[in-house]
Amino acid sequence: MRYLILSDVHANIDALEQVLADAARHGAHRVLLLGDLVGYNADPNGVIARIKGLAVEAAVRGNHDRVAAGLGTPANFNAAARASAAATSAMLTQESRDYLRRLPPGPIAVSPLVEICHGTPFDEDEYVFDRLDAVNAIQSASRPLCLFGHTHTPFAMRMTGDEAAFPDVSDGSTFRIEEGNRYLVNVGSVGQPRDGDPRAAYGILDTDGPSLTCYRVAYPVERAGARIREAGLPAGLASRLAVGR
Ligand code: ZN
Repeated sequence: MRYLILSDVHANIDALEQVLADAARHGAHRVLLLGDLVGYNADPNGVIARIKGLAVEAAVRGNHDRVAAGLGTPANFNAAARASAAATSAMLTQESRDYLRRLPPGPIAVSPLVEICHGTPFDEDEYVFDRLDAVNAIQSASRPLCLFGHTHTPFAMRMTGDEAAFPDVSDGSTFRIEEGNRYLVNVGSVGQPRDGDPRAAYGILDTDGPSLTCYRVAYPVERAGARIREAGLPAGLASRLAVGR
């Protein structure tokens, strides 16, 4: 079985369409959603409608989904995130809002091999920024492979006993999921990459290896930026897309 891993789509329909078109070559028929379908970009309803048409095996909500759906406050959001959350909330159709409200908090165990979460298994809002954060997250995981999002930055850590290693997560890199090891992996963000590479990021998990591959794909960043400006969202959200920050 091959799973398409999507995280932090953030209402970027241009990036999502390009990822789905590119991912078609890998024959992944099921989708794992790691949260933050909405926020920052201009088309939350278009993204949710597109996602609804996919075979979603498992999904968790992100902090932006929760706030836009009216299930939380943007207290810890910065100014641009808060402005986009308010605009997103105003844009959402009832159908879209209902979809977001039904998304469960993580972690969700998908199979004996894999679990998914937005931030970490112990806290959906916690960020994995450094090695200590990663160790804490992996120690709270209930499956050998824990997939997470939230930081918008590709990252992988493999633990063999107390030894940590960091598999390559650049475009096209594959690593095997070896028995006896534990893995913590972020394939990056579809809709707002922050690692300096503006290309949309996604991953493919092949459970028959098992192995995981990270991919990047260019998409019409200019069009996504134009949508942001037309929607009256903060202009900085358009310029950061162009530089992947
Ligand atoms: Zn996010």
